[in-house]
Amino acid sequence: MMARRRIALFLALALAVAGPAFAQAPVTYRVTFPEPEHHWMQVEVTFSGLGSRPLQARMSRSSPGRYAVHEFAKNIFAVDAFNGRGALLTYTRPTPYQWDVAGHDGTVRIVYKIFGDRGDGTYFAVDTTHARLNIPATLMWGVGLETRPARVSFVPPPSSRWKVGTQLFPTGDPLTFTAPNLQYLMDSPTELSDFGLRTFTVKNPDGQTLEIRLAVHHDGTDADLDALTRDVERVVVEQAAVFGEYPRFDTGTYTFLLDYTPHSDGDGMEHRNSTFTSTRLTIADPQQRRNALGTISHEFFHAWNVERIRPADLEPFSFTDANISCCLWLAEGFTQYYGNLLLIRAGMVPQAQGGASFGGSVNAVVTGSGRQVRSAVEMSQHAPYTDAAVAIDKTDFGRTFISYYTHGAAIALALDLSLREISQGTLTLDDYMRALWTVHGKPAAAPGLVAKPYTLKDLRDRLAELTKNRAFADEFFTKYIEGRDAADYTRLLAQAGYVVRPRAPAAGWIGNVRVAAVEGGLAVNPSQDNTATPIDFDTPAYEAGLEYGDVITVIDGQPATVDAFGAFSRKKPGESAVLTVLRRGRQSITTTIMLKPNPALLVTPIEADGGILTDAQKAFREQWLGTKIK
Ligand SMILES: [Zn+2]
Repeated sequence: MMARRRIALFLALALAVAGPAFAQAPVTYRVTFPEPEHHWMQVEVTFSGLGSRPLQARMSRSSPGRYAVHEFAKNIFAVDAFNGRGALLTYTRPTPYQWDVAGHDGTVRIVYKIFGDRGDGTYFAVDTTHARLNIPATLMWGVGLETRPARVSFVPPPSSRWKVGTQLFPTGDPLTFTAPNLQYLMDSPTELSDFGLRTFTVKNPDGQTLEIRLAVHHDGTDADLDALTRDVERVVVEQAAVFGEYPRFDTGTYTFLLDYTPHSDGDGMEHRNSTFTSTRLTIADPQQRRNALGTISHEFFHAWNVERIRPADLEPFSFTDANISCCLWLAEGFTQYYGNLLLIRAGMVPQAQGGASFGGSVNAVVTGSGRQVRSAVEMSQHAPYTDAAVAIDKTDFGRTFISYYTHGAAIALALDLSLREISQGTLTLDDYMRALWTVHGKPAAAPGLVAKPYTLKDLRDRLAELTKNRAFADEFFTKYIEGRDAADYTRLLAQAGYVVRPRAPAAGWIGNVRVAAVEGGLAVNPSQDNTATPIDFDTPAYEAGLEYGDVITVIDGQPATVDAFGAFSRKKPGESAVLTVLRRGRQSITTTIMLKPNPALLVTPIEADGGILTDAQKAFREQWLGTKIK
């Protein structure tokens, strides 16, 4: 980090001394769509002012907001390189994602085609209705030219009515845009289609006006789009109340790039001044339109949390390798928590039911087998293998991993309720988020960069400062974030009038075991393809030696049938059964399985559980889940 800063400082000084002669030539792109029906587009990229050194042109291997490696170069074909006079040049391929061009005249123009038919936040898709470009998946860049500005011109298909939706900086030409550097360019997904556009403005306390745009590719009516816009505005305003202000979007504008079409690949991806979100839900259906708000709420919260309140290990983002972070439990998990919480505060979800909905993450974390082997920090560090990573061998993530979205959301809930508890309601998680914003998110930086990213220690220190209670901060981080404990959700949720209890206390339980009838008996957790479903640690089935792929042939002396399995799994805790099991088709073993109580938890509003909501609980719940818009 230090070395990198020194280089930047040197460049700035060199520019100041030598003047504009040293100014860096922009990398220019011309993007065309000659045959969108065949799902490819053409890119011409021109690098000039190269001097005599060879050009190293690269495709990214990772994309901001994604933590696994995605080999975007695999979809590129028909690559030609030319010099400044248009003469064809040869190139070499030192790696699968790099094209080296030597012997040029200071300028290299590379022309390539790229296939794409996955319209989500990570990849590229084009058809006759639209093109969705995630930039790392589509645009080549030059090694060593990362600080150069970029200029991108789009040429829509001749008969199309496509417009361009993007967070790139506009120019006088509605089809041409700029980016100040590579980090910003890569972070600027772009939708080309005949989308519907809606805008509204919001104000910061200092009087600054910001524009929020919705560019929506959809199959609804104008009235449907207006209704969506009203809901989005309600959610956006509720979000800003958490932080007390909006981020200063680099172009003064934040753009929701929303794709609600039947061929969408469902996704939501955060960016500094936009989100790239796609779903097959239609805005023509009021319920589906409402359901789509969950992603909207989540992604807009990211404009603060991760885009600006950013972990230091993601800054700057590496486009050439997987990115590992300590802190996706905060970046994604807390965003998950607030995404849901703010829909409740905005009145989109009823309070009693909304509060109970946090039970899903509580149950996953309290009973999850993965917590026995990984902390929240370690779950976060495992993201490069679980975040849409592709491998053909089997994995055991079903029992060794809990999503940092779920895990982090449960931690956020515990911290919010704990802060309210220790401060008698004077401190909340909103105060913690605002402290992180003030110290780490708000300080100004160049577009595409973050000035004061945080470390894990910073997060612990900010909590100690906020609470003026170092012991509380140390205990919380040591136990629930860097350790593998689960908070006491029963006590914490009782404050808001929610009851946490076992889902089925009287029923016996053997673990997360599914069976399917096969020849000779019942296959245990049959797996499809490479998706193994291992038996969770510390469950009766695990202790009895059962594993996925085993075939249970005999249950208590009777042939193993689906009916016999049903009867056995209805036994009471403490009862047992004797199983004969065939392993790998050869080895027959006999084992005794002892049923335990089912640990699964359910969170219920006390008033729906036969209890009475006290005035104190009612007030707590309103403080927590009620709107903050006065
Ligand atoms: Zn997210």
